[in-house]
Amino acid sequence: MKYILVTGGVISGIGKGVIASSFGTILKCCNIPITSIKIDPYLNVDAGTFSPYEHGEVYVLDDGGEVDLDLGNYERFLDVTLHSDNNITTGKIYQHVITKERRGDFLGKTVQVVPHITDAIQEWVERVAHQPVDGEGTKPQVCVVELGGTIGDIEGMPFVEAFRQFQFRVKKENFCCAHVSLVPQPKSTGEAKTKPTQASVRELRGLGLSPDLIVCRSESPIDLTAKAKISNFCHVGPDQVICIHDLPSIYRVPMVMESQGIVQFFNDRLQLDIPMPPPLRFMHKWRSLAERFDTLRRELTIGLVGKYTKLKDAYASVSKALQHAAVAAGYKLHLQYIEAADLETTTKTDNPVQYHEAWQQLCKSDGVIVPGGFGQRGMEGKIEACRWCRESHKPFLGICLGLQAAVIEFSRNVLHLQDANTTENNPDTLHPVVVDMPEHNPGQLGGTMRLGKRVTVFSSDMTSIVRQLYEKRDCIEERHRHRYEVNPKYVPDLEAAGMKFVGHDSEKVRMEVMELEGHPFYVAVQYHPEYLSRPLKPSPPFLGLVLASCGKLGAYLARGCQLSPRQLSDDDTGERAAPSPDVPTCCFHYAL
Ligand code: GLN
Repeated sequence: MKYILVTGGVISGIGKGVIASSFGTILKCCNIPITSIKIDPYLNVDAGTFSPYEHGEVYVLDDGGEVDLDLGNYERFLDVTLHSDNNITTGKIYQHVITKERRGDFLGKTVQVVPHITDAIQEWVERVAHQPVDGEGTKPQVCVVELGGTIGDIEGMPFVEAFRQFQFRVKKENFCCAHVSLVPQPKSTGEAKTKPTQASVRELRGLGLSPDLIVCRSESPIDLTAKAKISNFCHVGPDQVICIHDLPSIYRVPMVMESQGIVQFFNDRLQLDIPMPPPLRFMHKWRSLAERFDTLRRELTIGLVGKYTKLKDAYASVSKALQHAAVAAGYKLHLQYIEAADLETTTKTDNPVQYHEAWQQLCKSDGVIVPGGFGQRGMEGKIEACRWCRESHKPFLGICLGLQAAVIEFSRNVLHLQDANTTENNPDTLHPVVVDMPEHNPGQLGGTMRLGKRVTVFSSDMTSIVRQLYEKRDCIEERHRHRYEVNPKYVPDLEAAGMKFVGHDSEKVRMEVMELEGHPFYVAVQYHPEYLSRPLKPSPPFLGLVLASCGKLGAYLARGCQLSPRQLSDDDTGERAAPSPDVPTCCFHYAL
């Protein structure tokens, strides 16, 4: 097993996760089985109790693990299925060590950060690195470990110390450290400044880890003089400094890395036996994805009605899933975030400008998505958005809370159950159309939801667009994260009025997929399809929304869910260069 530790210098938020995932992507393209571990040095046991305002979305795994959103990047880039243990937090490690201490496993010894916490970290990393993540049981050969935060943070110290010891435990040829550092280019001179990087490398060395690779993050490309300076002052060879400047899309990062000799570097440093040079078609899918992304011209606007719209990371997977679908359909996505509360009548009185602006944004969108969420704030705005999409025949996709909002709206305005609501927001409602699930334990917050991968079975007696989008499969598996569900008592009335529940759980008691009769695309799902969307394999409900929003859904379904050559090549402007011979034009085929 080979390990690549990725640390960060100077400041956080410079794309360390994307750099680490790109290392994995490149090695995966060299046919090396990859896994990854993300370390978050906070005390929370997992991300389940996080507010999206602070950390962005909570990412959910197949096994129900509620983890940091960076694991989403790894799953998407590497097309793997990670486990909750692939996300290590200080909270998890301490919980593990303290449980052992309570059991008396330490035989009366004083339990200390060094060696007990640091040992637990090393054992955890080694154990998890060996677990297969490709769904076929292949043992990974390389594990990319990303250490969150920046070098020098108090919280990160036990982890840095653990890896200082780890490099000797697994031997030099099996461990390397890549340090991602900011290289600022102040506007006044435009010159790349290397001092902050020098200082953070010095700090890393002081803690006993020597970088094998320095990844410089900058706004624009860094010239050779600055690169030479970093190599000189940071005591590494010139081939150990690579520069990643801001790029039009994250899909370009692996290519820019590859052009700087990273394959050769890992091959030599970790003795990987990759044949050199890599084959001609090396990374062709990524290359063509990046090219395609950069050359899209036709624009499509999707309105996202949510309550965490100030922090874009709160909807990271939803926005990525929309992006994957838009690229596959040949459109440049314009994602319009709409604050749900602004659509409410109270805003009309308090701030009419904001109210009308929000409604204008909604009306101008080609399609609308109401994603998952919690609590009362903004709920009435989401319900209003559902009403508008239903009445004006606007393509609509509701996810989790979005499905619940659509059911409440329909109950109020079509079934005339004025008071209809979810018990999450009004426990005393006369018409609880959305109710607590029996397993919901209101006493505790973390890990008490219906979480992770569950089966949805499509009804064989109903025609369903969603089922067609899922290649007419009888059942599918998607990830969940909810405490409330549609009240089965109201289902016969809802269905009689045209709101059809075409997919259920395997016991047929939970409503999983809803479609509205007589509407071009009014679909909602109780699960979160965004977590399983991949750049080259868009999620079916998202692709459905995007295609419906650009008026192409009918043709797509009629063709048996094949994208047309025109959608694949986006050649209607006539300006696009012919694809290079090693790029198959069909590489965006939905089935890939
Ligand atoms: N708050 C709702 C529930 O718990 C929806 C959750 C979600 O959208 N993830 O059921």
